[in-house]
Amino acid sequence: MSFSAILGNTKTSHLFQAVFKADTIQVRAGTLLKCMSSHLSRYQTNYNGVMAKSLTLLTVHAHPDDESSKGAATVAKLRDHGIRSILVTCTGGEEGDINNPAMDRPDVKQNLSQIRREELDKAINIIGYEKLYLLGYRDSGMPGRPSNSRSDSFAQASLEEAGDKLIEIIRREKPQVMVTYHENQSGYPHPDHLKVHDVSVYAFHHSGDANYKPELGLPHQVSKLYYSAWSTNRAKAFHNKFVELGLNSPFSEERLNRAGNDEEITTRIDVRGYYRVRKDALLAHATQIDPASNFWFGLPDDLAEDLWPFEDYILVHSLAERIEPADRIEEDLFAGLLDDNRP
Ligand SMILES: [Zn+2]
Repeated sequence: MSFSAILGNTKTSHLFQAVFKADTIQVRAGTLLKCMSSHLSRYQTNYNGVMAKSLTLLTVHAHPDDESSKGAATVAKLRDHGIRSILVTCTGGEEGDINNPAMDRPDVKQNLSQIRREELDKAINIIGYEKLYLLGYRDSGMPGRPSNSRSDSFAQASLEEAGDKLIEIIRREKPQVMVTYHENQSGYPHPDHLKVHDVSVYAFHHSGDANYKPELGLPHQVSKLYYSAWSTNRAKAFHNKFVELGLNSPFSEERLNRAGNDEEITTRIDVRGYYRVRKDALLAHATQIDPASNFWFGLPDDLAEDLWPFEDYILVHSLAERIEPADRIEEDLFAGLLDDNRP
């Protein structure tokens, strides 16, 4: 029985039909109406005019700090609109270099794993992730390092084993939207970034399959899968502003010429007002982020925020009813999942 059949054709019913569409829960009308009214009274937050409770985003990242450098402002904005976000971090970042001179100390090096775990907790509180899952693999390190071939590294993990861990999380948390990495990591070929892509795509395609390992939970199909995008146009805009202000640009020729995903970007989230959240989250990773870094913080905050007040994504799979016309940039990761009559 579909929710539209139970509830009739009201605005609210449309909404809940859409919200629960990805779930195959069967409930009787009375139960649902009761549950709806409690949702309506308890959760007064809304998302672009519609109720947001039950909407869930799941992001998959390689190691601590990736959740802050990619998509932090989007998650903070969603949180403010009542949408929960779940973070999956695959490794502990044990192979990370210490990039902040103030933290480059023997005691920090000895306890890097524990310190990075604490930094992650701090960052996710700032960003507003509701929950963190650690897949428990060891950081594979940059390409070519001996750590790549350690048996406990993420790079060496079997796709099925790591994929199943993620499927179990997906089936438990039931996200409608999932964000992961592009398969093309040629600009920054960290083995764990590549593995995040492979494992996420595997999980996306199997979690909704009722015949796939029922012991991992009831099947749940994620409705939309996105990749975080790397925009060369953004890098160029920043570089030009540094030059215009007579400041030293941290963007090398190589970086500016590095192929980005600009042509593929389908979705642009306006994160004006959330620059500071991202910055504070990055700074929480004190071993990884130098507060004096020109690359991260070389422009005044307000200028940097105005220059590129977006986080960019590529929609790669969608089961949503409404898909934006090809020539139009989508502005909402949950577009098409809510019958909100927006133009
Ligand atoms: Zn990373």
